[in-house]
Amino acid sequence: MGGRKPLIAGNWKMFGRRADLHEVSDTLKRAGAAGSAIDIVFCPPATLLREAAEAARAGGAQAGAQDVSPLGDGAHTGDLSAPMLTDAGAAYCIVGHSERRADHGETDAIVAAKAKAAAAAGLAPILCVGETLAERESGQALAVVERQLEASIPENAPHSLVIAYEPVWAIGTGRTPTAEDIAAMHRSIRGLLDARFGRHGAEMRVLYGGSVKPANAAEIFAVEHVDGALVGGASLKAADFAAIILAHPAAAR
Ligand code: PEP
Repeated sequence: MGGRKPLIAGNWKMFGRRADLHEVSDTLKRAGAAGSAIDIVFCPPATLLREAAEAARAGGAQAGAQDVSPLGDGAHTGDLSAPMLTDAGAAYCIVGHSERRADHGETDAIVAAKAKAAAAAGLAPILCVGETLAERESGQALAVVERQLEASIPENAPHSLVIAYEPVWAIGTGRTPTAEDIAAMHRSIRGLLDARFGRHGAEMRVLYGGSVKPANAAEIFAVEHVDGALVGGASLKAADFAAIILAHPAAAR
């Protein structure tokens, strides 16, 4: 995986209360020294961002938001601007998660604007792409993801940009692509980043996401060009999230 530092991020989705924040420090305690070889990121709901960021930082990790407005501060009730998220302690921000694309009609153009706003505020965007089951079964997965990447990565994207390949049909379903299919997709994404951004693109990390669990993490991390994982459900429990982190080969170094 070249010189890129592995990254494992947990997406808590719309789950979690203050009483669950101990999962952050518990995860980091269980992960132990792995935290110096792997960037570990917790993306709680916005209500918990500040406290999660403090707990993460105390254990050598970081926090991220799950979404961001493409707009600057202003009269946009209910939205959160990128500078607000950095002010709350976020270092990363997920953009274009398939649940937001589906629930909120987010297009590639909106996702690109969000990634741009995040980057301008110093947040590393974790930009999600992935095909539906119908697209996979009709042999269009590589082409769909290529189109999504072309349209949703903003011009002048920073090298901190992270791509998360998340097949829609693998999210929360317990199903995952074969190692060969993950390898083919990550090879394709890596090629696109290299072609568009050159040396700069070689620094961008590409994560796999979709039903990563302690039982399959090692196999997924062994796939060429997989720089880590975006973990949903399994990131909510310290025992599971730490087991996934410890399954990364860098954890043993
Ligand atoms: C996610 O929410 O990004 C995700 C990958 O979810 P899960 O791990 O639960 O499939």
